[in-house]
Amino acid sequence: MKKTVLVRDVKIGGNSPVSIQSMTNTDTRDTLATVRQVEKLYQIGADIVRVSVPNDESLNTIKELSKGKVPIVADIHFDYKLAIKSVESGADKIRINPSNIPQTAIKDIVKCCKERNIPIRVGVNKGSVKENSITPRRLAEIALENAKIIEDLGYDNLVLAVKTSDVIETIKSYRILDKLCGYPLHIGLTEAGTAKRGILKSAVAIGSLLADNIGDTIRVSLTGDPINEIFAAKEILRASGLDKNFVEVVACPTCARNNLDVEKIASTLEEMTKEINKPLRIAVMGCVVNGIGESKDADFGVAGGRDKSAIFAKGEILKTLPNDEVLDELIRLTKEYIK
Ligand code: SF4
Repeated sequence: MKKTVLVRDVKIGGNSPVSIQSMTNTDTRDTLATVRQVEKLYQIGADIVRVSVPNDESLNTIKELSKGKVPIVADIHFDYKLAIKSVESGADKIRINPSNIPQTAIKDIVKCCKERNIPIRVGVNKGSVKENSITPRRLAEIALENAKIIEDLGYDNLVLAVKTSDVIETIKSYRILDKLCGYPLHIGLTEAGTAKRGILKSAVAIGSLLADNIGDTIRVSLTGDPINEIFAAKEILRASGLDKNFVEVVACPTCARNNLDVEKIASTLEEMTKEINKPLRIAVMGCVVNGIGESKDADFGVAGGRDKSAIFAKGEILKTLPNDEVLDELIRLTKEYIK
């Protein structure tokens, strides 16, 4: 089991649930815009939010954010003094990229974090490593070498990450790192791309690692509005079986045997239950071929017939209804289950 690290009141590692992270894309000097974005991300499901701190003018925003509800990670590149100032301004964790922070500066950062027991994420990105021909093993080794520098300074309040923009390389790098260390791992791709393709790439990378029980906190890194990162991260955790508190609508793809408007029924139920954090499984099947089997695993559902459809609950037929009454009946049952 991985070590547990505390980011304000959010635990990463150990037996803690996999937490969701995102990152602001506002200008951090703009305190109001950044605070608003952090609050929005928190409202829709972020557990921790990272904020870039590229200059001294951004520190006031870190101070303001430290008074809010959301644990904040200060993201630091190049200027190690900004790491120290961010911690002094109230950051709950810092992320440093060892490839662009001089080793001689690490001891000052560690001293400051140690005094306040603030965790450090050592986040190695392949793109910023100066060596040629970086293999997944080498990437993992670089993360460990940097962790060792911090350990030798008497500090092990660490989270590690080894990101690339390539799905397979990232999976391989984390698998190696996971075997070699007891630190919690922040997993995800870097520069995954725009929403559609980036979500799919992230789902494969993060989902594969989570299926192997690797990863303690996730970030889906997407170009564009970061709220997409939270929706994607939540769906990845659900698809990986790590979040069961949601309404799952199982719907068949339909084929020539279909008797119902499966798409309309399924999307209506999904839309009406998207905010519900309760485990519930509804099956919408266009015919009886898979309908009976699916309904056994569902809380309730429908299997379409030519004119009438069977409404099931826990594998038992409740009633049969004309097909044009199916949607209303499923809406009624859904309301009954979630009230
Ligand atoms: S459940 Fe029936 S309608 Fe739906 S895809 Fe399967 S065979 Fe086709």
